Amino acid sequence: MPKLFFPKIGARHFLTRPSFASILAMGIAVAVISAAGIFWEVQNRSVHLQRARANVAEQLGVVRARLEGNINSNLQLVRGLVALIATQPDIDQDQFGRISSSFIGKHSQLRNVAGAPDLVVSLMYPMEGNEKAIGLDYRKNNQQRHTALRAVTSGEMVLAGPVDLLQGGTGFIARFPVFMKTEDGTRHLWGLVAAVVDADRLYADSGLLDPDLPIEIAILGKDATITDKTVFFGDEAILQQEPVLSNVVLPTGRWQIAAIPRGGWSAVPVNAWKTRLLTVAGGLLVLLPIFIAGQLYDQRRGHIRELKRRQLQMEGLSQRLKLALDTSKIGIWELNLDTGVLTWDSRMLELYDIPEGRDTTQYDVWADCLHPDDLERAEREYWEAIEAGGTYHSDFRVILQDGSIRWIRAIGAVHTNTRGQRYILGVNWDVSSDIQLKTRLLTAKQSAEDRNRELEDARALMEHYSLHDSLTGLPNRRFLDQELLDEEAPQRPTALLHIDLDRFKHINDTLGHAAGDAMLTHAASVLKENVSDSDFVARIGGDEFVIAITEPADEASLAARADRIIAQMRRPVPFENHQCRFGVSIGIAMADTTLSDYGRHLLVDADIALYRAKSNGRNRFEFFSDTLKSEIVHNKQVADDILFALERQEFLPYFQPQFDARTLAITGVEALARWKHPTEGILTPDRFLKTADELNVVHLIDRLILEQTLWQSARWKAAGIHIPKMSVNVSAGRLNDVQLVQSLDGLVFEPGSLSFELLESIFLDEKNDLIAANFDHLREMGIDIEIDDFGTGYASIVSLIHLRPKRLKIDRQLVIPITHSEGQRRLVASIIDIGQSLGIKVVAEGVETMQHARILRDLGCDALQGYAFAPAMPSDRLMEFVREERWREAS
Ligand code: C2E
Ligand code: CA
Ligand code: CA
Repeated sequence: MPKLFFPKIGARHFLTRPSFASILAMGIAVAVISAAGIFWEVQNRSVHLQRARANVAEQLGVVRARLEGNINSNLQLVRGLVALIATQPDIDQDQFGRISSSFIGKHSQLRNVAGAPDLVVSLMYPMEGNEKAIGLDYRKNNQQRHTALRAVTSGEMVLAGPVDLLQGGTGFIARFPVFMKTEDGTRHLWGLVAAVVDADRLYADSGLLDPDLPIEIAILGKDATITDKTVFFGDEAILQQEPVLSNVVLPTGRWQIAAIPRGGWSAVPVNAWKTRLLTVAGGLLVLLPIFIAGQLYDQRRGHIRELKRRQLQMEGLSQRLKLALDTSKIGIWELNLDTGVLTWDSRMLELYDIPEGRDTTQYDVWADCLHPDDLERAEREYWEAIEAGGTYHSDFRVILQDGSIRWIRAIGAVHTNTRGQRYILGVNWDVSSDIQLKTRLLTAKQSAEDRNRELEDARALMEHYSLHDSLTGLPNRRFLDQELLDEEAPQRPTALLHIDLDRFKHINDTLGHAAGDAMLTHAASVLKENVSDSDFVARIGGDEFVIAITEPADEASLAARADRIIAQMRRPVPFENHQCRFGVSIGIAMADTTLSDYGRHLLVDADIALYRAKSNGRNRFEFFSDTLKSEIVHNKQVADDILFALERQEFLPYFQPQFDARTLAITGVEALARWKHPTEGILTPDRFLKTADELNVVHLIDRLILEQTLWQSARWKAAGIHIPKMSVNVSAGRLNDVQLVQSLDGLVFEPGSLSFELLESIFLDEKNDLIAANFDHLREMGIDIEIDDFGTGYASIVSLIHLRPKRLKIDRQLVIPITHSEGQRRLVASIIDIGQSLGIKVVAEGVETMQHARILRDLGCDALQGYAFAPAMPSDRLMEFVREERWREAS
């Protein structure tokens, strides 16, 4: 479940980012305040200006009044003079001077006064410094003519100037026309009186030059004409600065006077900054509340938004929670640990199947529902969780109203709420199906484990069986192979004694399997007695055992052990009423432990050695050696060649003739097998017979020889050569063959012309009924039976009589010595006697000299075969030999 995040309002920054509304409100407020401020400023300025202008006007008024006063008072003085002159037109200089000096005082701005009767200056006061002006004719003076004439024509005083004075400085010249009144009352021009007002003094006296004067003044209107705009006092620039204007009214004409405050109009009132500050302060006083209100408004809106968001979140959560609770069928409960009040939601009631109307505010309601077997544990878990103050987790059963059982899982946690009350809050849900499933799984797991154990036991047992022999309990061939091949095996053998029981098959066949089993068990126990703890004995075949030596052992100790075993095995073993005897042959192989994979060869080597031990005669042991091995390898090659030779029919009969001892007539031939080897030429049986016997293919050779012999005999007959009898050698195994007679079917021969030579040794062991039956069958087919190598096999005479052979063939080992050994001669003589007495014909083989032939003839032998007469030869040579009767030459 994602962690829900609620931002804390209290922790928020005081200044929020203002909303548009509050920005708008602030904007309007700022605009209004700015407008008010500007208006205030403008107003302030205009009031300031008006006040300044009033001030200037006031100052200007003073100056103007002074100016007017000064000029007027000066001119008034001069008017007195003019009036006097009008009455005294003949005024002279003295008079003029005296009167003038009376009004031109020290403090007057008048500099001088001139009188010009008839417009020519002749009177002057003061004369000093003004002498140059005497004689000036106004009518002729370009500079002064105009104003002079204006005064004359207008009859009024004309104030001219300011002009630069001849005496230096500037001044205003007031020209008064002077008219004399005649007796008749008419006016008559006297001339002009000109008074010069010193401009500088006038200005100074009028306060215009006062440095403290707070205004700057400019005066214009030269010659007191208002139309003239020449500025003659002050800075012309003042006119450009919206000066306060006023008129200086002169007796004739006027000047215009303009004033501005000293230094110009100050646009900014002195209190401008104060008022501005006031405005700003006022503005701030207005703005700040608006700003704060805006902030508060924004925050409130923020809070409302946040609350709304949380409300939505809460709604979402509670919806999800409800959905979760609904779908999961989870009930919620809470127990106030302080008051003990229990609160259950409706789902809890369903879960516990509480009857309607039952009080569910008390703890008992829960405890009452619990299965009695779970009650104690569930309560314990519950109170333990509460005491520990941590989480609570418990599974228990409750009994429903109908008596059925439901598994409930409860989880919870102890909390303390904001008021410091402790309570445990938790949920319950139905886990019956979980528990059932779990139980089923557990049972299934248990049974699977049981089954696995059984299987494991069975497997172990099978493993044991697969590695052990059931009869003797000894390890078997598989076990041995494992130990041999596993390079890490703890019991890896370093030498093997391969033991084969002799005559075991005989005991098994004659005394039954119980006897056989007893012999095997006995043999096993004997072998076990002859091994140490680290060695082991294995039974690897019917009557084959192996002693695996794991400790290093030398040849001498192994040989001693083999001897001991052979000796112990030879002791007769009682079984029922018999004393069973058997022997053992042992092949011993020692590992070359420097080779890691010696295990692979060890058993094969021991087997080779065993084979040799057996073929060297029984009850003996043989060590494996490399020469032994190479012989075996050679035999293997020969064996392969023999099988190949059989396929290609490389075996053929040679024939050795047999002769009547008295007449020396041919009585028959013995067919002797030869191998026409592709590279080695004609090979005699000593080169292949033993191997063929091991390969168990001698009967195939016999069969080939028999067939070819019969075929050759047919050739002889056809060639007119008479050979009365053909003897073939028959291997011992064939006599045990049930199919011997059947295999002879289809052979064509004259009854009595075919004879089977059988080794005397055959009759030693095997005297069973099958052989006797086969003999009878052969006789019925007209095949004679001849006992070969007679005198070497110790056949009992009884068995001989029982088989009723046609002939005995005295072994050449007995025949050869008769020429020089009396004893041998007597032995042969007695054999011949036995034959004669039983009606069995006697043949001698190995008749090497004619001396032999004579002795045998004299002893009563019937037939002779040997080198004295002829060796074995191929069929063609035989035919020649018989036809030419060459043997007669020899004899
Ligand atoms: P055997 O049946 O006793 O055969 C006579 C052996 O004596 C022959 O040897 C023969 O060549 C040899 N021999 C003949 N005259 C004299 C003699 O004056 N002095 C001496 N010392 N030996 C003489 P061969 O042919 O080498 O055969 C050896 C043996 O092989 C046979 O002994 C026979 O037991 C066996 N054999 C030969 N051919 C066959 C056959 O076709 N089938 C079977 N099963 N065995 C055969
Ligand atoms: Ca023979
Ligand atoms: Ca023989």
